[in-house]
Amino acid sequence: MTAPTRSFGDVTIDWLCESGHSFQATGQTDSRSCPQCSKRSYVVTLYQCEVHGRMEIMLGYDAEQDDVRVTRWRLPSRGWVTSEEKLRCPRCRRALRRAPRDPLAPIGRKIKTRTTD
Ligand SMILES: [Zn+2]
Ligand SMILES: [Zn+2]
Repeated sequence: MTAPTRSFGDVTIDWLCESGHSFQATGQTDSRSCPQCSKRSYVVTLYQCEVHGRMEIMLGYDAEQDDVRVTRWRLPSRGWVTSEEKLRCPRCRRALRRAPRDPLAPIGRKIKTRTTD
């Protein structure tokens, strides 16, 4: 396990605003304003339900000096939870797990819940 050496402010990541606009910007621990509607925006990443696939989760950060950590998680349009274990799929209540990917890479919002065919 090697920790990423890039710092949070050096990478371009995905953000999602309260109205659902997405955009990319560098990481910062404070919330940003959406460039389209000026509402508060949060870093967004992907979690997954083993049944319903990937979903976007907003993250809230706290930073002490250079130690940046996630302290809040939220499904868009729902309340914040203070522990990753409390993240539940809105459809089946299963626990969500972080989707296996680079947490600092942009998600590009191309990923939709996979449909079985
Ligand atoms: Zn917006
Ligand atoms: Zn589910």
